[in-house]
Amino acid sequence: MKTQYDVIVVGGGGSGLACAMAAAQGGADVLLLERQPKLGGATGLAIGSFTANRTALQIKAGIQDNPDDHEEDAAKFGPHAYQVKNNRRLRRFFFDHGADTLEWMGRMGLRFYGPSPEPPNRVPRMHNVVPNAKAYIAAFQLGLLRAGGTILCGAPAEQLVADAGRVTGLVASVNGERRTFHARVGVVLAAGDYANAPDIIARYRGPEFTAIEGINPHALGDGHRLAEQVGARLVNMEITYGPEMRFVPRARDGFEQLLPSKGPAMRLMGLMLPLVPKPVVHWMIKRLLVTWQHPEDAILADGAILVSRQGQRFCNELHSPSREVAVANQTDKIAYILMDQRLCTRYSAWPHFISTAPEIAYAYVSDYLRLRPDVAIAGKTAAEVAEARSMPAAEVHRTLDHYNAFAAGLEKDPFHRTDRPSPLAGSRWVLLGPVKAYFTTTEGGAAINEQMQVLDGDDRPIPGLYAVGQNGLGGMVLWGHGLHIAWAITSGRLVGTRLGELARRHDVTTQSTHSFANSAATAPSRRPP
Ligand SMILES: Cc1cc2nc3c(=O)[nH]c(=O)nc-3n(C[C@H](O)[C@H](O)[C@H](O)COP(=O)(O)OP(=O)(O)OC[C@H]3O[C@@H](n4cnc5c(N)ncnc54)[C@H](O)[C@@H]3O)c2cc1C
Repeated sequence: MKTQYDVIVVGGGGSGLACAMAAAQGGADVLLLERQPKLGGATGLAIGSFTANRTALQIKAGIQDNPDDHEEDAAKFGPHAYQVKNNRRLRRFFFDHGADTLEWMGRMGLRFYGPSPEPPNRVPRMHNVVPNAKAYIAAFQLGLLRAGGTILCGAPAEQLVADAGRVTGLVASVNGERRTFHARVGVVLAAGDYANAPDIIARYRGPEFTAIEGINPHALGDGHRLAEQVGARLVNMEITYGPEMRFVPRARDGFEQLLPSKGPAMRLMGLMLPLVPKPVVHWMIKRLLVTWQHPEDAILADGAILVSRQGQRFCNELHSPSREVAVANQTDKIAYILMDQRLCTRYSAWPHFISTAPEIAYAYVSDYLRLRPDVAIAGKTAAEVAEARSMPAAEVHRTLDHYNAFAAGLEKDPFHRTDRPSPLAGSRWVLLGPVKAYFTTTEGGAAINEQMQVLDGDDRPIPGLYAVGQNGLGGMVLWGHGLHIAWAITSGRLVGTRLGELARRHDVTTQSTHSFANSAATAPSRRPP
C-alpha cells in the first residue's frame, strides 16, 4: 500500500471532500481517509442550505448585497452571549469568499434553489442545493476520483505524526492494521464536530449534558482530539447548537432522500427546477421540513405538555435546556408532546406552526398527520392517542387531572412552573413524538488563521497542519441556517486550492518556515481580543 502523499485529508464530509478535490485538481497527490464505511458525515444528513452574499442567484433576482451587511446581520442571530465570543475577522473573511464557492460548485453542475429569506438577514441569502446535501458529496467524490485522488473508507486517523514540530503525517487504522502515512505538504483535519462525544461535551458544557446525543451519531470529535495532541488551541468549545428537541427520524429514508443526488438525473432536476411550479417545490421542501425539524418551543409555551413513555410529566416544559436534559433521562431518551383541541386548532394555520425552515415553508398539525404518521397521531380523547402509542391511558388521565388542577390554581406544579396555562380539554387530541433531545452541531474548533493553518497556544501556526469545516471554526459563531455548510465547503475549497499550488511548486520547505509566502495574507492572523 502506498504511504507517501502530498496531502492527507482526515474526513470525507463536505469540508474534507471539497478540500481533497480542490487539492487533487490543483495537482496534489491526495489521500482522503474516512472513518465510516461510506462518505458523507453530517454534510450528507443535511438539507444543504448554503448562505452567502453577492451570489449570482441574488444578482439574477435583483438583490443587492455585500459582505459588510452580511456581517452586520449575522451578528443578530442566536444568543448574544455567544455572539460576543465570535472571531469577527475570520467570519468577515468567510463572508468575502462564499459567493465564489457557489460559483465553483455551479461549474461542477450543482444546482441551487433560492435565494430564500431568513430574517434578521435583511435580504434573501439562503441557497438550497438540489435535491439535498448528498449532492455535494456525490459531486466532490466524483471530482476527487477523476483528479486521481485516493479515498480510503473505514480508515480512521488515530494519531498525528510530527517531526521537529512539523506535522508530517499520521497513523490510521486500515483493515484493522495501524499504518503510517506521510504527507509532503500538509495534513488537513476535516473530521466534523463533537455533538456525539459525551466526554468532550462533559468537559466543556457540563456533565449533566452527557445523556444527550448528537443527531449525527458519528460526530465523535476526533479532529479536535488530533489537533489537541499536537498543541492546537481549541476555541469556543462550550458553544453548542442545541440541545433542542427533534422528532426522531423515520426508519426508512423519505422520498426526498431518494431524489437523484448525482449524475445526469441530478443535473436535469436542477435545470428543470425553474420550470417546476412553486407549489410542487414547496411540497418537496415541506417533506424535508418534517424529517429532522424540531417542534417550535411556542407549542410548549402555549400549554402543551411533555409526557414520558409512562404517560407522566417529568419537567418544567418552559425551561430550556433543563427540559432537554430531562428528556434525555427518560426511558429510551424519548418523550411525547400532548396537545388538546385548543392547541390542535391553533397549530393548524399561520402564524402557529409545528416546525419551519423560516420563510421557506411551514408545517402544521395536518402536515405531520399526513407526512409523519410515525410521530403524529390524532384521536377524540387523550386516552385514545395514548393507547395508540402503548402509553398507559390511566396514567395519562392522572397526569391531566394534576396538570389541570395546577392550571386552575388548585395545586402547585411539582416542576415549579409559575405561569397560568389553559387547562387541557376537548374532543380532539394530538400526540406528537417520540421526540429526543439532540445536539445538532458544535461551534468549538481549532484556532486557525486565514490560510486555515492550525494555531498553537501562542497563536503560531503548527507547520504542516490545517483544519477546515467544523474542525477549523477558529472561534467563529455561525448561527442561523446555511453558514456551517457554506464554511465547510468554502474553507475546504480555499485550503485545497492552496495545497494544490504548494504541491505543484514542491515548496514544502518555505511553507514550513513561513506559510504561503506568495499569497495575499502572509502574516498569521491573530484573533481579535
Ligand atoms: C440534520 C442536520 C442538518 C443540517 N443542515 C444544515 C444545513 O442545511 N445547512 C448548514 O449550513 N448546516 C447544516 N448542518 C450542519 C452542517 O451539516 C455541518 O456543520 C457541516 O456539514 C460539517 O461539515 P464537515 O465537513 O466539517 O463535517 P462532516 O460533514 O461531519 O464530515 C466529517 C467526516 O469526518 C469523518 N471522520 C471523523 N473522524 C474521523 C477520523 N478519525 N478519521 C477519518 N475520518 C473521520 C466523519 O465520519 C465524517 O464523514 C446540519 C447538521 C445536521 C446534523
